[in-house]
Amino acid sequence: MQTINKFNFAGKRAIVRVDFNVPLDENGKITDDTRICGALPTLKKILTDGGSVIIMSHMGKPKGKVNAKYSLSQIVDAVSEKLGVKVKFAPDCAKAADAAAALKSGEALMLENLRFYPEEEGKPVGIEKDDPAYEEAKKAMKASQKEFAKTLASYADCYVNDAFGTAHRKHASTAVIADYFDADHKMLGFLMEKEVEAVDTILSNIKRPFTAIMGGSKVSTKIGIIENLMDKVDNLILCGGMTYTFAKAQGGKIGNSICEDDKLDLALDIIAQAKAKGVNLVLGTDCVAADSFSNDAKTQIVPANAIPDGWEGLDAGPETRKAFAKAIEGAKTILWNGPAGVFEFDNFTAGSRAIAEAIAKATKAGAYSLIGGGDSVACINKFGMADQVSYISTGGGALLEAIEGKELPGVAAIKK
Ligand code: AMP
Repeated sequence: MQTINKFNFAGKRAIVRVDFNVPLDENGKITDDTRICGALPTLKKILTDGGSVIIMSHMGKPKGKVNAKYSLSQIVDAVSEKLGVKVKFAPDCAKAADAAAALKSGEALMLENLRFYPEEEGKPVGIEKDDPAYEEAKKAMKASQKEFAKTLASYADCYVNDAFGTAHRKHASTAVIADYFDADHKMLGFLMEKEVEAVDTILSNIKRPFTAIMGGSKVSTKIGIIENLMDKVDNLILCGGMTYTFAKAQGGKIGNSICEDDKLDLALDIIAQAKAKGVNLVLGTDCVAADSFSNDAKTQIVPANAIPDGWEGLDAGPETRKAFAKAIEGAKTILWNGPAGVFEFDNFTAGSRAIAEAIAKATKAGAYSLIGGGDSVACINKFGMADQVSYISTGGGALLEAIEGKELPGVAAIKK
């Protein structure tokens, strides 16, 4: 496989898929530039080598139509400033051949939002799935998606994918475009390489013991990951809102706590699987119960399976936090996805904080720790501990699909 480090970009035009889907305020000002910063090493390497770069991205969900609210023109100045090069702008991503051809060594061009064209996502527009003509429309759209990808590919000599956030999508710019470059002229960017390596460390290159911590609100959205991890981990902590589905499934009283009543059997099945596979499953035994879903609610510590009527479990209790720490501190590989409580409320952060602290301690002692999936990243940032873990993934859905064991189309397209 070609790599960005091996490739010499001198005199070459590179088309680079980045994830510049940054949040903007009502005046179009960027409120968090993490994603732009994430792609800088790749863009700078190409320019420093003496190549030129065509930057392409989506922003928001314009659903295949031009919409000024999602125009990437709003971020061109910020990208220029970060890159240290005045970035040119092509206001129509499908008609940028001349602008691309005019690029000289060291120059950069940014294309308008790819999703202004429905071909980027490749979903037929204005027709519902139950329409008899849907399959035909889908076929026609797939054909025009190929044409769109071919147009984008024609701008450049090589293709770099550095958009991990959309690597789980088979879109024109994330996967289809790769078909128009041979194996020596397509590669992952530095950010993608790091993300892929991080997932590999967790799934294939495991140092034991391996502790995975899955939290968040629901079992249903995490079940694919839980099942994939069950064959790999030594310790599996299931926490957050999931705690109460497990407590109820085992006959506990959970008051008003969040619960998926249609997943009680699944919870029992997970417990049985863990037992059969010799996985140490750590579930909450006590919790911080609140008399309402609010930061200022009255609280009491109660067993997670004996929550009084009118109360709900919003965080892990002290005994549970100790059990979490015990399963984490001795680990050599750690994965954390999803908070252990309603961490958005300052009074219900103790469970997540205990996890973050134990991970930091284990990391200091030599463990590899990967934090991923929006909310656990928000947690670790809220606690100011981002620099005390091994790696924080930038990909939400993409990371979760990778951990489920699915091959990401964005990565597969480069390997082909
Ligand atoms: P998810 O998107 O499934 O990872 O869930 C993240 C959300 O789960 C966060 O917004 C947390 O506030 C929420 N959460 C965690 N623990 C609980 C709980 N005990 N009750 C309700 N929501 C929770």
